[in-house]
Amino acid sequence: MAGIPDYFGSLVFDERVMKARLSANVYHSLKQTIRRGERLDPGVAEAVAAAMRDWAVEKGATHFTHWFQPMTNVTAEKHDSFISPAPDGGVIMEFSGKELIQGEPDASSFPSGGLRATFEARGYTAWDPTSYAFLKGKTLCIPTAFCAYGGEALDQKTPLLRSMEAINKQAMRVLKLFGNENVSHVTTSVGPEQEYFLVDRSVFEKRCDLIYTGRTLFGAKPPKGQELDDHYFGSIKPRVQAYMEELNEELWKLGIYAKTEHNEVAPAQHELAPIYTTTNLATDQNQLTMEIMQKVAARHGLVCLLHEKPFAGVNGSGKHNNWSLATDTGVNLLSPGETPYENAQFLLFLVAVIQAVDDYQELLRASVATAGNDHRLGGNEAPPAVVSIFLGDELTAILESLESGTPYSAAEKTTVKLGVHALPRFARDMTDRNRTSPFAFTGNKFEFRMVGSSQSIATVNTILNTAVAESLRQYADELEGAEDFNTALHTLIQRVIAAHKRIIFNGNGYDEAWIHEATEQRGLSDLRTTPDCVPHLVKKKSIELLTRHKVFTENELRSRYEIMLENYSKTVMIEATTMADMARREILPAVASFAADTAERAVKKMSLVPVLKCTYETDLVEHLTELTNCIADKTAALERAMLAVRETAESVNEAFTIRDIVLPRMAELRAVCDEAEAITSSSYWPFPTYGELLFSVK
Ligand code: ADP
Ligand code: MG
Repeated sequence: MAGIPDYFGSLVFDERVMKARLSANVYHSLKQTIRRGERLDPGVAEAVAAAMRDWAVEKGATHFTHWFQPMTNVTAEKHDSFISPAPDGGVIMEFSGKELIQGEPDASSFPSGGLRATFEARGYTAWDPTSYAFLKGKTLCIPTAFCAYGGEALDQKTPLLRSMEAINKQAMRVLKLFGNENVSHVTTSVGPEQEYFLVDRSVFEKRCDLIYTGRTLFGAKPPKGQELDDHYFGSIKPRVQAYMEELNEELWKLGIYAKTEHNEVAPAQHELAPIYTTTNLATDQNQLTMEIMQKVAARHGLVCLLHEKPFAGVNGSGKHNNWSLATDTGVNLLSPGETPYENAQFLLFLVAVIQAVDDYQELLRASVATAGNDHRLGGNEAPPAVVSIFLGDELTAILESLESGTPYSAAEKTTVKLGVHALPRFARDMTDRNRTSPFAFTGNKFEFRMVGSSQSIATVNTILNTAVAESLRQYADELEGAEDFNTALHTLIQRVIAAHKRIIFNGNGYDEAWIHEATEQRGLSDLRTTPDCVPHLVKKKSIELLTRHKVFTENELRSRYEIMLENYSKTVMIEATTMADMARREILPAVASFAADTAERAVKKMSLVPVLKCTYETDLVEHLTELTNCIADKTAALERAMLAVRETAESVNEAFTIRDIVLPRMAELRAVCDEAEAITSSSYWPFPTYGELLFSVK
């Protein structure tokens, strides 16, 4: 069997292939484009296209596609074949520079939030040379950005690339002030840890809710859930092991550094973490990872559930977004340095993130707002809906000492002064084992834990990058004009700590007392649901931020606002419809026939032995009948609520109506159905139970 190094990245048109197949000039010019974002010369595009085609065709490819990420959280592709008629009646394989650079998919069926009138259905895709092309089956996939004809972004990738440029620009200004002459570029990196559930395909297929919505809409608690904490890091079952092995291989072939895998807290829940990489590449790779997770699962008779909350009462799935920024000279700007000067620089970047998260907490919260994630944030395992930062006691103490000018610790008796004292070395491992914080500093990176498992990581990183770019912009403005850099720096950092320390919280984020303190005393936002969050996208403050850094135009933001609300409303309405359907066509008939059969059996028994009382049967029939009546009522109530929504016009009102009228009716219907499940003979229950789902994979 071939070793990993032999096949790693074998499906990617990566550095190695480029070096081997492009002329030195073409390679150099492409690298410049990639590194500096310079315009690609048409001649270079032609040469790259030819090399890509030859490489792909040698590997059996017949088609190519512009692979892009519309506002649906999944990727889209339209395949074109390479073939072109030859004069002699045969075919030649063709792929031009123009086809590489730009495509024109019919964009009319992708969400645009009103940006693209239906008569102007055209959109175009533009090659993103900073992300490698790769092979999927027989198709050469070219990562692209997707725009409307007027140039407005219709995808998740374009704003992300713009935000990377924004943070690069501002971070470079700050780095200049610290005398970093040899740095020419700053990039953000991300390592997204992906959680998921695996269930057996045959069990999955019996549940319409899983099929249509990705989550269970009904289901009584199983006798055994995650109470025993015996699943986390537990030994991996053979079938899951086989799945993970094949998944890793597929990811490695695509050049994705899948690194760790383990069981998660809930039964049937697992996690995969790749090694971090540049944000846009990490985003593309995470999209591919989610796709391949599902494909490989199918080959193993499994289904991979990426929903944020597939099971009520069981931990949901997130995607921990580990984020840092580094220079092209290899310095992680969030890593405490060795010298006092490096430490001053580190502290400035650290407070830039603190300020960004405080200033734009609502926008960050909004960037992870989806119907699915609403079930998770504020639940028992996920971070709460209140955004706060965990820094750890040591770093917090350092900041406090800096702010107040008092000694950092009793033992040291020194105050921390920038540019004079080194930061006390802090032990890496002590930093973070706080699983309850939404935004935790973990030694040399921040981990944003609110991201939902099925979401693209593009938008959260777009917001994060831009918010930090804004802090840095303010600092650069102030410090560039300073008479004495060190004094100005010290004053600035002190001021920022004082102004933004309310966002720092090292305690237990699940604690009710914290939510109270956060909202009542610290004035932090507690945005519980998507309709609460989305309006923040178009608040003046957000528009100013995102337009100033040229990440979104106001129109683009308004379109995203519409799309997010629309996605929310559609998602919940599909769930509601599925629920009503399952209640009417599966649950009610099942419970009613169980009641009727039980009654019939009791009558039979009593006619055979007239002295019998049959209280078990009569009580049961009575209870079942009460429940079926109640289920029928609740179903009707849900259906009426759905009708009320259809009469609401404005998208934001629609979302609120859905949240306030439909979701509560769904919860009520579920409660009675789950109660009925608990007393209905398992041979009558129409679909697999939680127990069967969660323990379906041996
Ligand atoms: P933990 O055990 O705290 O979750 P790991 O070392 O396992 O931390 O890393 C988790 C994820 O964070 C991995 O995807 C890893 O590649 C990523 N990561 C590590 N360092 C950085 C960094 N400097 N920037 C971004 N992501 C990082
Ligand atoms: Mg982690």
